Amino acid sequence: MQANLGYSATFDKGDLPMPPGRGFAILTCMDARLDPAKYAGLSEGDAHVIRNAGGRASDDAIRSLVVSYKLLGTREWFVIHHTDCGMETFTNEIMSDLLSKSLKTASIDAGGWSDCGEGPGCCEGKYINWMTIKDQMESVLEDVVRIKSHPLVPADIPVYGFIYDVKSGRLLEVPAATELGRAS
Ligand code: ZN
Repeated sequence: MQANLGYSATFDKGDLPMPPGRGFAILTCMDARLDPAKYAGLSEGDAHVIRNAGGRASDDAIRSLVVSYKLLGTREWFVIHHTDCGMETFTNEIMSDLLSKSLKTASIDAGGWSDCGEGPGCCEGKYINWMTIKDQMESVLEDVVRIKSHPLVPADIPVYGFIYDVKSGRLLEVPAATELGRAS
């Protein structure tokens, strides 16, 4: 709240239009180490940023992208996954197993995830596709292809694939993804 008081004290962006000024949208991971405004040089009003665990092209991410172009005019999209993503550390099976035992926060060590075991757990986890990641190149490619081939996405929107390196802060393009995501 204190930070917001400082922010609003000198705020002068109250007259921005709703459509993103730079005409693009980013789909990226919720990882706390990623700051899209900083890594892509964005200011208020510049772009749509859609975030979820992994930066995956879930149905809900696609819902946002469709609103982004159809109602707010974005013309280019970027799928940005990253190195050392937490979504690489488990599978659907591991997650549903952890949840079935306990709803407390699990811990990870060299042997993988484990639970304190304090119940109750819940079996609902097995009905969710957690969209985990085995390989960043593959996941970027898969998501660019899923977005590009979605029937509500027009062919003339290019979708670019990138991996953000959490060690260097650099964005590295995944050429195969960008190639499959090109506009036609
Ligand atoms: Zn991540």
